[in-house]
Amino acid sequence: MTQRMSRAVVIGGSLAGLLSASALADHADEVVVLDRDRLPDEPLARSGVPQSQHVHGLLASGREAMEELLPGLTDELCALGGELGDFQERTQFYVGDRTLAGGTSGLLALAVSRPLLEHRVRTRVAALPNVTIRERTTVLDLVLDDESGPAARVVGVAVAPLDGVAGPEKAPSGVETVPADLVVDASGRTARTPEWLERRGFPAPAEERVRIDVAYATRQFRRSATHADGLVAVLQPSSPELPRSAIMLAQEGDRWIVGLTGYHGVRPPTDLEEFIAYAATHPGPVGRMLPTLEPLDDGATYRFAANVRRRYEKVRRFPAGLLVTGDALCAFDPAYGQGMSVAALEALELRGCLADGTDDLARRFFARAARHVDTPWTLVVGRDRELPGSTDPAPWATRMMNRYVGALLRAACDDAELATVFLRVSHLAAPPSTLMTPRVVAKVARAALRRGPADRTRRRRDQEEGGRTKGRPGASTPSPA
Ligand SMILES: Cc1cc2nc3c(=O)[nH]c(=O)nc-3n(C[C@H](O)[C@H](O)[C@H](O)COP(=O)(O)OP(=O)(O)OC[C@H]3O[C@@H](n4cnc5c(N)ncnc54)[C@H](O)[C@@H]3O)c2cc1C
Repeated sequence: MTQRMSRAVVIGGSLAGLLSASALADHADEVVVLDRDRLPDEPLARSGVPQSQHVHGLLASGREAMEELLPGLTDELCALGGELGDFQERTQFYVGDRTLAGGTSGLLALAVSRPLLEHRVRTRVAALPNVTIRERTTVLDLVLDDESGPAARVVGVAVAPLDGVAGPEKAPSGVETVPADLVVDASGRTARTPEWLERRGFPAPAEERVRIDVAYATRQFRRSATHADGLVAVLQPSSPELPRSAIMLAQEGDRWIVGLTGYHGVRPPTDLEEFIAYAATHPGPVGRMLPTLEPLDDGATYRFAANVRRRYEKVRRFPAGLLVTGDALCAFDPAYGQGMSVAALEALELRGCLADGTDDLARRFFARAARHVDTPWTLVVGRDRELPGSTDPAPWATRMMNRYVGALLRAACDDAELATVFLRVSHLAAPPSTLMTPRVVAKVARAALRRGPADRTRRRRDQEEGGRTKGRPGASTPSPA
């Protein structure tokens, strides 16, 4: 049954929260977004989203989902310097020292900085007549109509101005309840909904954790439109054989943002010379291009400990009037740049669920959201389990999947169709099952048979060199300037 809500409240005004608010705006008289941060008037990184200083690519599926929620957003971002391009044509994706075969994938991804993207999304959502964004407002707790009853429902949140708040128990005066028919927790990886539920006797969602102890170092450099043959991105992702990545992405303002990654205690440096030397430990071209570029900043770092998936779709007793989305649902290694896109697809699912009414909303929403989380959890987190130093060993099925995807990627360096199949899955535009259609499996198998001995030698060499820090030349290198 379709029921219009009086008020929906969203905890967190980052991408998942803002996009959820845009979905809710059609179904509630009023939507209130609460964020504890100061939300800047300009496109600037902010402390509540510390990752915003680092590389953020927007995949085709995420861009399309945002476009559906906020029509015209892509054009607006392109007018401000964002670059839209077919991912397979304008990106070099390295598999060891080779690249995925070029071609036309139809995947129109957007290269734009995270602060500009968030700023434009926030501006658009704030302009919706029934949406209010309250900054510097911390959500301390949920409010339920019957704190311990089995049929309890969430009827609002307890909030306070940020300054002086020391925690739920010691909350100072100024705490108020914001009533709501629906509360959406989009407060990111440190979300407290599991704790709030458990304290009231509701089961917390089962939590899957895969430790990666990942560290990022990021710097920005000057870019000209013709640099690197007009590419918008060079991606040198990590793999169990080469457990570090280097990613270079075009940004508005004639900039490259370059991000380096290390896992399980390996910390990429920010000092310019060391940064370039670290980038050169990967066989791709990033390390060779950097010395020719003008540095624009002093760099930034970021770390997090683990991929975390909270299995809300499996919780048997859950209060009505509450949803969880974005990184609060699943925060994972952004190796393939999927987090914002998953958040956008979840917001679209929310809109779809609300169009069918509010009855049984949580069960329907979590089931649909889980399908979008499944891809990164299979493709990226499954692979993370095999990184050197991993303390969360991959089950047999995951190891087999990793071997198969590895073989597919190697075959896709010579086969544009396979490259497109892989990219469609990594862009969340197709399910992982499309990697295993009879045609794709046959092509991967034929390529593996053809390349058998060469592949084994290459893998052995990669494994030997994986731990070392010495660089070596790559295959097809974009011209440095
Ligand atoms: C280094 C790095 C690189 C990444 N690169 C990419 C990429 O290339 N492409 C991509 O798609 N994704 C990428 N991601 C993932 C992406 O950043 C997230 O998936 C995305 O920001 C969605 O997160 P979110 O809105 O759920 O949470 P967040 O962005 O973490 O925002 C949470 C918000 O909640 C607010 N908040 C928290 N607690 C409270 C509270 N109690 N009360 C009020 N407000 C609160 C915070 O201030 C913040 O605004 C990357 C992540 C990292 C760490």
